[in-house]
Amino acid sequence: MFNLEKIVRPNVLKMKAYSSARDEFKGAASVFIDANENNLGSLAGDNYNRYPDPHQKKLKASIAEIKGVRPSQIFLGNGSDEAIDLLFRMVCRPGQDSMLHLPPTYGMYEVSANLNEVKLDAVQLTVDYQVPVQEVLEQVKPTTKLIFICTPNNPTGNSIERESIETILLSFEGLVVLDEAYIDFANSPSWISRLDEFPNLVVLQTFSKAWGMAGLRLGMAYASEEVISLMDKIKPPYNINQATQELALKSLQQTEQLAYMVEEIVQEREMLVQALPTLKTVEKVYPSDANFLLVKVKDANGLYNYLLEKGIVVRNRSGLPGCEGCLRISVGTTEENQQLFQAMANFSI
Ligand code: PMP
Repeated sequence: MFNLEKIVRPNVLKMKAYSSARDEFKGAASVFIDANENNLGSLAGDNYNRYPDPHQKKLKASIAEIKGVRPSQIFLGNGSDEAIDLLFRMVCRPGQDSMLHLPPTYGMYEVSANLNEVKLDAVQLTVDYQVPVQEVLEQVKPTTKLIFICTPNNPTGNSIERESIETILLSFEGLVVLDEAYIDFANSPSWISRLDEFPNLVVLQTFSKAWGMAGLRLGMAYASEEVISLMDKIKPPYNINQATQELALKSLQQTEQLAYMVEEIVQEREMLVQALPTLKTVEKVYPSDANFLLVKVKDANGLYNYLLEKGIVVRNRSGLPGCEGCLRISVGTTEENQQLFQAMANFSI
């Protein structure tokens, strides 16, 4: 049986959150001289002389409505990378606890584990980039606090089978972190609709991909109210800046535009899926539920450098075990994709 108190670091359970000036005063006032701000104003514009809402109430309410969850089930981070790091600091005792991830996958799970002095167990995805569930469960130790599953997975692009995820959610007594950074490009539904069924489920999403706001740094973790209040307790008080809160709120009103962009990106992706295999340098295009394609080519380093010469930067993943010979290519605009295709067609090995 999952017991949150059993897996949270004792110091985190015991500690008190930082109490900000605006936490300590509630009510109406006209003179705010409680937070050492610059009351003359800001060189950046209206409002920016004031600290932002540390609880991001308006933003959470708006996200809750769109996503069909309760505001108390949402944590907002300075990118989902912040949520990843906080999850480590919430449950993993440095030098003692461990996490499990499934390479080839997103690199920050490992970086955060190393930074927090958390042991790293890795179970390689299968040849079709699925989760070998039995192997994962066999690798779980009493010190394993977190399992990271990225779906759709970066850099392979595929979604992870739902039964595998469900088995792990039901069998593992730590937190299962599903990273859904690319979920908006997938056909399968998000796991956030299952939060009430699994107290050990944490779902990560981000505004950096489909929403087109990578520069603003806004990521979400969805989980039980208990998990979210612990994450809120240990986060830096003003982790989401005022500009981000305002701009994200505005963009949340434009869900039609979002759907339009997603549709266009998915269409462009499918064009590339059809076109790239016709090139003689391309050996395989892996199926993708994301806004990028993993492409196996005959000479990955050669093609990578050739594309660079043409002013086109892709991600060379050929050195990654499980991705030998592969480049990861983000879906661009129609024009950019045509440019890529032309350049690849002109590459001779
Ligand atoms: N998860 C995955 C799978 C990603 O690929 C990325 C960004 N490349 C992130 C999380 C981090 O996203 P954010 O910009 O929200 O920090």
